[in-house]
Amino acid sequence: MSERPLMVIPQPTLKRLVVYHQWLKQLQERGRDVVSCTVLARDFKLDATQIRKDLEIAGIAGTPRVGYRIDAVIASIESLLGWTNVNDAFLAGVGNLGAALLGYERFTRQGVNIIAAFDLDPAKIGTKIHGKPVFSLTKMAPLAQRMKIKIGILTVPAPAAQTVADLMIAGGIEAIWNFAPTALQVPEPIVVESVSLASSFAVLLNQLQHQRHKTT
Ligand code: ATP
Repeated sequence: MSERPLMVIPQPTLKRLVVYHQWLKQLQERGRDVVSCTVLARDFKLDATQIRKDLEIAGIAGTPRVGYRIDAVIASIESLLGWTNVNDAFLAGVGNLGAALLGYERFTRQGVNIIAAFDLDPAKIGTKIHGKPVFSLTKMAPLAQRMKIKIGILTVPAPAAQTVADLMIAGGIEAIWNFAPTALQVPEPIVVESVSLASSFAVLLNQLQHQRHKTT
């Protein structure tokens, strides 16, 4: 596959590409080889033009009257999203959420390979959780530096998040996936993506209320 120039994909497109990927994988498992834009549009309740545009961004063109080859679309999306080169990551904070992420094997297929975790709790340090070693937090920065780890996953409680993020940055980590419910201050060129489970749930509840309002 030829290298395409690096570009910033608009976030809504990025999110839709992940959803298309999941759906196309399911169609493939059911033995389908090709899919038309019209079928995708119907399945996703989206405009066919929107889907065509999203796929164009991923460098995918369909064949008129035939549609898209599912294997080619899946491969292009994976390449575009960087899922073909798996990135090693460290995780800090092995509580309930951190441990769940350590055990989520699908991540490896989506480009994230958590190779070690870090915590303050002596009962967790020195153990393995879902096969991943847990080290003392004091080891995180030096190990990240030595192993040239660039991605950090933050699942510590909110009050500890900034301090732990600073330690990640001191260890050369350049991208932080923040699950702690707090905003982080980071210098350029560090990138942060915060995942707020609470906001996501609030969106769901709001939709539920909206639906109930419509039907009453
Ligand atoms: P648990 O039931 O294991 O306590 P939890 O998800 O309820 O899980 P939290 O209080 O959210 O626990 O803490 C998540 C994890 O972060 C815990 O394992 C805790 O030991 C760890 N932790 C707390 N402070 C820090 C810190 N400064 N650095 C690293 N890990 C920390």
